[in-house]
Amino acid sequence: MRSLVLEYIDEVYHDVLGDREGSVADYIPQLAEADPESFGIALATADGYVYEVGDSRRGFTLQSISKPFTYALALADRGVEAVGAKVGVEPSGEPFNEISLDPAGGQPRNPMINAGAIACASLVRGDTAADRFERIRRFYSQFAGRELSSNEDVYESEHRTGHRNRAIAHLLRAVGVIEEDPEISLEVYFRQCAVEVDCRDLSLMAAGLAAGGVHPASGERLLSPVLTERVLSVMTTCGMYDAAGDWAAQVGLAAKSGVSGGIIAVLPGQIGLAVYSPRLDRYGTSTRGALTCRRLSQELGLHFMHVGRAARSAIRASYDLTGNPSHREHSAAHLDVLRRHGSRAMVYELHGDLLFAATETVIREATARAGELELMIVDTRAVGEVADVSRRLLLGLRDQVLEHGCEVVLVGSGASFDAPQAESVVEHYLIMSDMDTAIAYCEDMLIARHSAE
Ligand code: GLU
Repeated sequence: MRSLVLEYIDEVYHDVLGDREGSVADYIPQLAEADPESFGIALATADGYVYEVGDSRRGFTLQSISKPFTYALALADRGVEAVGAKVGVEPSGEPFNEISLDPAGGQPRNPMINAGAIACASLVRGDTAADRFERIRRFYSQFAGRELSSNEDVYESEHRTGHRNRAIAHLLRAVGVIEEDPEISLEVYFRQCAVEVDCRDLSLMAAGLAAGGVHPASGERLLSPVLTERVLSVMTTCGMYDAAGDWAAQVGLAAKSGVSGGIIAVLPGQIGLAVYSPRLDRYGTSTRGALTCRRLSQELGLHFMHVGRAARSAIRASYDLTGNPSHREHSAAHLDVLRRHGSRAMVYELHGDLLFAATETVIREATARAGELELMIVDTRAVGEVADVSRRLLLGLRDQVLEHGCEVVLVGSGASFDAPQAESVVEHYLIMSDMDTAIAYCEDMLIARHSAE
């Protein structure tokens, strides 16, 4: 069956294809040889499905798109504090190759400009340039899901002509940010920039970040959630150099561009997008790439400030027991008790992911009613992810409503509460695996308590 999503991306591709603004980078001689007409798009979902259009399998070098990944590896190797002592996280608002160091300490402002990226290349573990680059290459390959390698010609070309980067590296050595021979850091940096990828690889690398540091297809954890968050934050504020503010407003995706014409864009939890087209705008970003990202973001509602599903109410349905929802055979007297007192037991059926915003709606609704209730059924069978904060809030809910004499019955396997605090949630709630049992239990409680009235 034809894919409607693919058809849609193909339509965007053909609309943007007519744009011939900008020019191919030539300050690294080898890059000038790229075909200016080349254009590919790949969109990977957070579970690893890839939609590809155009030259999505044409190879090109990563260039600056390598920076967030090397930053990630440096963080994993040395820790946030040690890396933070050498490289800041403040947007510089300056071009990628600006020699901009903090006036007080001499640190590069962030890892997305060349100065910060060269410093990060010096921080990845590995004694020799070859060892270190091999670790970097393997790390990138894990994200891409295939073995990547460095393009020797592009590496040679930049190694021979990268005088500005050489100046930056030596300056970093002079102020003590780089502690080794700066030529080693430069070799690693030039090699990582020359790693060859295609759009498909990049979309999966982006989707790995979108999935919180887990490879979307294999499920392998490559980076911790905390470090992934940090990398994405820095991409958001600094990834698009001096156009970062404009990008955040118009596109609203964590992104990184490279001078060879690639862009990755990430929407956490949802997608990894990659575009390749070598003509660049004045910021050094692919013109067609930027147009494609802007258009997809607007039309698919991908802007990270877009109010989405997670913030909507997690309560799918709520009702009380006055209407005998269990449809059990009750005596007339018992039915009468339920009619009079059924409103003292509420059922909340939840769905979706229980992230903070969604859980907050549940807590607010349930606590507002708690004073009038004796029993509360919380149905979690249709719930997906449960954030740590949500577990804590649900525990708090139990304590709070219990103070008002209201008992909570949790319906579900308890599997949603499987991670660290699982036991504490499970042991405080009465857990029932099916709804009929839970409703029958609550009906019986009401009947036992109120029959005599
Ligand atoms: N290797 C390039 C340089 O350092 C990367 C720049 C970029 O892609 O923005 O100049």
